[in-house]
Amino acid sequence: MRMGKLLMIPGPVEVSEAVIAAFAAPPPSHVAPPVIAAFGRALDNMRRVWLAPKDAVPFVIAGSGTIAMEMAVANLMQEGDAALVVNTGYFSDRIAEMIERRGARVVQVKADVGDAPSLDRVKSALDGGEFRALFATHVDTSTGVRVDARALAALAQEHAVLSVFDGVCATAGERFEMQAWGADVYLTASQKAIGLPPGLALMVVSQRAIARRAELKAPPPMSFDFTCWQPIMQAYQEGRPSYFSTPATNLIVALDVALQELIDTRHDDKSGIEARFALHQSCADSMRRTWSEVGLELLCKPALAANTLSAIRYPEGVDASLLSAIAERGVIVAGGLHPTCKAEYFRVGHMGDVTLRPDALEKTQQAVSDAVAQARS
Ligand code: PMP
Repeated sequence: MRMGKLLMIPGPVEVSEAVIAAFAAPPPSHVAPPVIAAFGRALDNMRRVWLAPKDAVPFVIAGSGTIAMEMAVANLMQEGDAALVVNTGYFSDRIAEMIERRGARVVQVKADVGDAPSLDRVKSALDGGEFRALFATHVDTSTGVRVDARALAALAQEHAVLSVFDGVCATAGERFEMQAWGADVYLTASQKAIGLPPGLALMVVSQRAIARRAELKAPPPMSFDFTCWQPIMQAYQEGRPSYFSTPATNLIVALDVALQELIDTRHDDKSGIEARFALHQSCADSMRRTWSEVGLELLCKPALAANTLSAIRYPEGVDASLLSAIAERGVIVAGGLHPTCKAEYFRVGHMGDVTLRPDALEKTQQAVSDAVAQARS
């Protein structure tokens, strides 16, 4: 039985009843046979959801999306390296700072708020420097902009540069084909389209990126070193107990359930992750139709709009008090996040389990439409 308001922010998000049942249990041991089995299956299923090659290495550690970003940066970059950051907002700024803190040089290709840098500009930047890696935010949660990850991964490969994508607001909701596109790291967190509470940092890493870690002169902090974690992930996949640092066992059991739900999804004639991509697309189309019917505009260029959330400008004469009017109608949405314009827009998340719940989507569309109509009257 669901209680309370519908949580429609861009993470954390509503999760399924089966996921709630899976984590709401007394904490199991990290070496209990059912946990080992769940962990192993979850790692195998991550490769399916990421559309990753068989030799790619999945990692799951306790932590947030920021920890996943830090783990990627610390295992690939060191002093003397340079990175190209394709900057589309708040989370691209964050990863740029992480790379600098690691002592590496950052070149950024930026765009106006709500836009993404053109591929030509990214290509010229890559032509003009010796980069270790290209970093991009698949969907920037502060602006709702989705980059062309496929084209960026291809450009990186042409330049023999590793490509790292922050998929925290995208993975399992936006198409990403790690193997076909030749991407090196695709990272995320549990609280968005994967469909869990916050608490897990997840990523799948190519053999090229693993090889890069082996070359580092200065090892990363132990707690997120690929080298410390890889044998643990390997052991779980082989059904063996192992220990380096205690995993978030309740969440691991729930991750297994959430990934299995993802893989079992059916929609139209599609199944698995393809069905999820299609569901997020049709959900986003329906949301955008509603926003436009009530005269609302997106913060970003419509062609770049992500399927996992909408960043919506407040209409003329309306301010952040709209959020409480929407909440009074039983739906929680989020305020703006981008530092230059956060008072000018709000955000509605539409990812994960809710894409399978037409009632939740309709309630959200109705709550926003009614609150806007009231604010204008
Ligand atoms: N990257 C993106 C694109 C995000 O949306 C977020 C969280 N909103 C993060 C990174 C950071 O994740 P966390 O808050 O779990 O640290």
